Amino acid sequence: MPVKAKVITAIALLLAFGFLATTLASYYVSSKAIKEAILQDELPLTSDSIYSEIQRDLLRPIFVSSLMASNTFLRDWVLEGEKDTDKITRFLSEIKKRYNAFTSFLVSENTHTYYQAKGILKKVREDEPRDNWYFRVRDMDRPYETNVDPDMANNDTITIFINYRVLDYQGNFIGATGIGLRAHAVKSLIGTYQSKYGRQVYFTNKQGIIQLHSGTFDGTELNIHKRTGISKITGQILSQKESVFEYDNGRETILLQSRFIPELQWYLLVEVSTDQAFRTIRGTLITNLIICTVVFIVVLLIAGYTINQYQSRLEEMTSTDSLTGAVSRQTFELIINQIISHLKRDKKPMSVIFFDIDDFKGVNDRYGHAVGDRVLKEVVKATRGRLRESDILCRWGGEEFLILLEDCNDTDAAAIAENIRSATAAATVDSKDGPLSVSISLGIAQHREDENQESLILRADKAMYTAKEAGKNTLSVAS
Ligand code: GH3
Ligand code: MG
Ligand code: MG
Repeated sequence: MPVKAKVITAIALLLAFGFLATTLASYYVSSKAIKEAILQDELPLTSDSIYSEIQRDLLRPIFVSSLMASNTFLRDWVLEGEKDTDKITRFLSEIKKRYNAFTSFLVSENTHTYYQAKGILKKVREDEPRDNWYFRVRDMDRPYETNVDPDMANNDTITIFINYRVLDYQGNFIGATGIGLRAHAVKSLIGTYQSKYGRQVYFTNKQGIIQLHSGTFDGTELNIHKRTGISKITGQILSQKESVFEYDNGRETILLQSRFIPELQWYLLVEVSTDQAFRTIRGTLITNLIICTVVFIVVLLIAGYTINQYQSRLEEMTSTDSLTGAVSRQTFELIINQIISHLKRDKKPMSVIFFDIDDFKGVNDRYGHAVGDRVLKEVVKATRGRLRESDILCRWGGEEFLILLEDCNDTDAAAIAENIRSATAAATVDSKDGPLSVSISLGIAQHREDENQESLILRADKAMYTAKEAGKNTLSVAS
């Protein structure tokens, strides 16, 4: 592979690796940070504020219900045989009014009568599903339960009943009392979180059945054991007081925070899709990649251009001509200037021979460039054979050469030139017409005091033209 291709490939690989590594690393880091922030702060905060709203909704009614359950009038009235219904309904209606409850109630164990603020409602029956709650409360160990009316749970407002156990003075169960209230706040808060922050908020009971969710709840399956993705972690959710999870619901990655709400005996689940949270940093990622690609291309173009420039500069600066091995023009100019500057001190003669191949164009035209090149090489070889080690042979241009002869006047130089002329004339290269030889015309000039290189070379060049005009294959000495 050429050096240029190697360098470009190396730069391309380095850039691509560097850009991709930094872009992806920063994407990874920020997505991790965002995830952490959601799991550690945002979801728990949402859950906290919903929980405190629930407590605000529930705390007072629980307290009111506990007062009702321990109220001596109520207990005595039941224990004394539930004689004057008016008395108890007045009591219930006072409580309802005073605490702005949706309903207030008492069910006695003795007669299974359901009393309300407006009077007797009905008798509770074990075989009536809607009355199940009473028998559950009768048999439970805790002093009260909170129960959400299943019929109301999916309406805009939900009714939460506080079912408090009423005990006689010996601690025997004699009935259940409490109030029902409409939890506006919880429901509207859930809706707000859903619409404002894209959080999905819902509650499940201990069995994993969704009890309450906002209006725009995702899907119809209300058993989390049967919901895609989350079904795998329900065991963990329903066994821990508080926990965070990550799962895939088949469409997107969901971050989930769950916490147990003891007052409701429910789990509060707050979910957010990472896709939504990552949308912005994904946008940044794409912008970064586009910028990197543009920079990548521009850098490669600049690198390619710079390398080209350097290559041609380097080619210019090489000291020898690659075809013939003669010294390059640039090097020759450096050397001759150096020598001329020393001549002032040395006071030694110095000469140059300028020569040009005769009718070289015809060689190229007739035999092709390859043969022309071989001729150039042969001419240089023959010329070298007639020069001292210290003489400098330069390829001045296409088929023009310059020889620098130190410590040599123009008479000696002319003798050398004649040697070169006959040597090159005798040299041959193979061609389709058999051995091919060329002649050269030479011009000789001796350096004059204070003469610069341009002038010296120009005089030699002119002398060479004189030789050409004299019929070629000859030499001429500049006057
Ligand atoms: P003249 O006797 O007047 O010098 O005739 P000429 O044909 O030599 O004239 P000219 O200087 O115009 O022609 C030079 C030719 O040398 C033209 C060019 O194509 C050819 N040439 C220059 N450099 C090279 C080279 O490196 N290789 C080959 N094969 N040909 C070259
Ligand atoms: Mg020529
Ligand atoms: Mg020429």
